[in-house]
Amino acid sequence: MGDRSVLVRIGGVGVCGSDVLRFGRGKAYHYPLVLGHEFSAVVEDVPQGCRFSPGDRAAVFPLLPDPADPMARIGEYSVSSGYDCYGSRRDGAMAEFLHVPEANLVPVARDVPLVHAAMVEPAAVALHAMLKFELPAHATALVIGAGPIGALAAQWLRILGASEVYVADIDERKRAVMAGLGFPVVDASAADTAEQLRELTGGRGADCTVEASGLPATAVQAVTAAAAFGQVMLLGDLSGDLTLPRSLVSSVLRRELRLYGTWNSKITPAGRSEWDMVVHHLGRDLKVAPLISHTPGLDEAPRMFADMLGRRTWYNKVVFALAEEARGELARPGVVGGAV
Ligand SMILES: [Zn+2]
Repeated sequence: MGDRSVLVRIGGVGVCGSDVLRFGRGKAYHYPLVLGHEFSAVVEDVPQGCRFSPGDRAAVFPLLPDPADPMARIGEYSVSSGYDCYGSRRDGAMAEFLHVPEANLVPVARDVPLVHAAMVEPAAVALHAMLKFELPAHATALVIGAGPIGALAAQWLRILGASEVYVADIDERKRAVMAGLGFPVVDASAADTAEQLRELTGGRGADCTVEASGLPATAVQAVTAAAAFGQVMLLGDLSGDLTLPRSLVSSVLRRELRLYGTWNSKITPAGRSEWDMVVHHLGRDLKVAPLISHTPGLDEAPRMFADMLGRRTWYNKVVFALAEEARGELARPGVVGGAV
C-alpha cells in the first residue's frame, strides 16, 4: 500500500460500542486518544496523480497495514499483527482534518449524505461476517441483537439471499425499526429467543444464526437456535465468559454445527472488495437512515458519550455530523431515522 497521503475534511463519525468503552471503561490502547474509526470525509487536498479531486467524497478504511506483515501482503490486514488503526491505536476522526493514505479511501457518490457514508465501516464489518456463511437454498436466519451491527447483518442476509431473517431484541424501539424494514421480529424479553424461533420454524431452527448482542446468554441462544447443519456466527465481542452446558455441546455434535468468528472487514482486492460492495448497495437495498438515532455536533460529544455510557438516553446509531455539509444535509428528507 503506498503512503501517498490525502488531506481530508471529516464528514461524519459514527460511534461504535467499542468507543463507549474507550471513553468510559479504560478500554483504549493508550490515553489521550482521539476517537473515531467509522468515518466519511470530503477530499481537501491531493498529491499529484491522485485518483481523487478536492470535493470528492469517500468512506475511509481505518486500518493502516504493516506492509512487512505476511498477512498484510495478501490483503488480510485485520488478521495481521502489526497494523495501526485510526481511533484505536492512533488518533482518529473526531477532528476537523486528517491525512490518510490514498489507498484507504473508498469513493462515495457526492449525493450520498456524509452521515450515511460514515456507516460504510460498520456495514462492511457486518458484510464481512455474513459472507462467511454458506447459505443453503431457502435459508432461514436468526439475528440476535437489533443494534446497528445486527440490523446491518440482517439486511445483508436478505440481500445475499436468505428467504426469512428473524431479528430478536429486548428493545421495543429497535424491534420497531427492524419491523419497519420488513423483518419478522422476536421479542426477546417475552420468552427464550431460541424457543420462540423453534416455534416459528416448526421446530426446525435457523440455518444461520448470528450473535450480535455481545452477551454470553445470547451466544448460547445462537447455538441453541441453529438447525441441523446450521452455522453460528459470533459477531459481538462477548462481555463475559461463555459456558456451554454439556447437553448443548452434545447437540452441537449431533446437529453437526459450524461456528464462525469474524473480525473487521476488507478493502482488498481494490475495486471488488467488501467496501466497494457496501458503497454499491448503500441507499438502495441497504438502508442506514432508519438506524441513525442521533446526529449531534462534536461540541455535544462529552454529554453524548456520558449518556451512552450511563444508558441515560435511548440510542441506536449515533453519528456525529462534523463537516458543515454533513450538518446541512440532516435537514434533507430520509437522511436520519424514520423513512424506510
Ligand atoms: Zn467499530
